[in-house]
Amino acid sequence: MFSDFSIKKYFLVKENAVKQRYDQSDIRRLNVISVLNQLRLNGAMSRANLSVRLGLTRATISNIVTDLMQASLISETVYAEGGAGRPGILLNLNPDAGCMIAVEIDLDRIWVVLTNVGQGCIWREDVSLPLEYGADESLELAAGRVARALEIGALRGLSCFGICVAWSGLVDGIGGQLAYGPISGWEQVALKRDWELRFEVPVHVENEAHAGAIGAYHFGLNRGVDNLIYLSLGVGLAAGVFVNGALMRGDQGYAGQVGHTFFAANQITCGCGKEGCWVTEIGATAIHRKLLAANVILPVEASVGFDWLECVHEQALVHDAKVLQVLKAVGRQLGEGLARLVQTFNPSVVIVGGRLGKLMQRVEPTIKEALLAEVLPCMAERIDLRVSDSDEDQRMGCLATVYDAIMQNPPIGGETHRSDS
Ligand SMILES: [Zn+2]
Repeated sequence: MFSDFSIKKYFLVKENAVKQRYDQSDIRRLNVISVLNQLRLNGAMSRANLSVRLGLTRATISNIVTDLMQASLISETVYAEGGAGRPGILLNLNPDAGCMIAVEIDLDRIWVVLTNVGQGCIWREDVSLPLEYGADESLELAAGRVARALEIGALRGLSCFGICVAWSGLVDGIGGQLAYGPISGWEQVALKRDWELRFEVPVHVENEAHAGAIGAYHFGLNRGVDNLIYLSLGVGLAAGVFVNGALMRGDQGYAGQVGHTFFAANQITCGCGKEGCWVTEIGATAIHRKLLAANVILPVEASVGFDWLECVHEQALVHDAKVLQVLKAVGRQLGEGLARLVQTFNPSVVIVGGRLGKLMQRVEPTIKEALLAEVLPCMAERIDLRVSDSDEDQRMGCLATVYDAIMQNPPIGGETHRSDS
């Protein structure tokens, strides 16, 4: 279900903390996290198996299991052993221990997904966002849908473990705000504290490219790959980078703003105020501009929206020459830029995702050719490039963030699951 992330993260936090000595409560917590991790990595396991795997006594495992069952985080399954032996009992994570909410706020839409902790979808809604909406109006619309999700969860008797909101731009996870959106122009938009007061559940905020990388790291084809670049391509352009199994966040948590690095002397002013940023060549607005310049007929609407995207995708599917020529040119620029990232971080997997992933999939060979042509040969051999047509990576990353917070601080023995991150 998930990759083994929590224990690494726990030790990382401990190593950075002022307090360096581990006490009894730390050891107990690590044992609890270890049991949960074993179950999420391996599925159903017996008490005896857990005891052997973790090198803990049967009595310790029994105590932990009792606490986790009282908190409804795990459940027992009875299975019939072959022959005349007694029925066995296996332990498993309880998918209905509670629910989680993932939210993505983009320039033109908001989506909200309610799942159980097994990531089984209970309810979802995609809401179009009027382009004239500012930050306050967008957040209020999102909050209304979150309130509805919480009602639906409560009707099912599921308490909510947390909400994670993905945003594009410089997201301050500790302060719980969007510090600056280079494309939207939004600045210092607070969310975490207000929503925690309003909804009384832990709220996390995450950069959408980081969320995509977390989703790719925990789920799907490239699950558990320790050196991975996830490039999110939409109106904005940013990367989430895993190096040696850890997401690179940087000093302020803003790492990955690769779309605002200089790429071409095109004299085009970017939303960030600079000229020639990579996003001004391959972002959604740039592709829209290039399609119009190539005399491709597009629906008449603001270039920042995505109504034109399906139309272009359909034209690419029927091999429209003008459309494919533009996409291939953009694909080459995408590959050339990716080569710089590959040489900087030396990943084994590169995923291109985001709102434009499905469109750019049409020219995946061109992207790969340009990437391999630019990368040092000895680094090129091992690169696995994938252009993702799924827009689920971000929301899966949000759900993984909420679940990881549960794993870091399991709500057992009267302890709260409120998170500080
Ligand atoms: Zn820029």
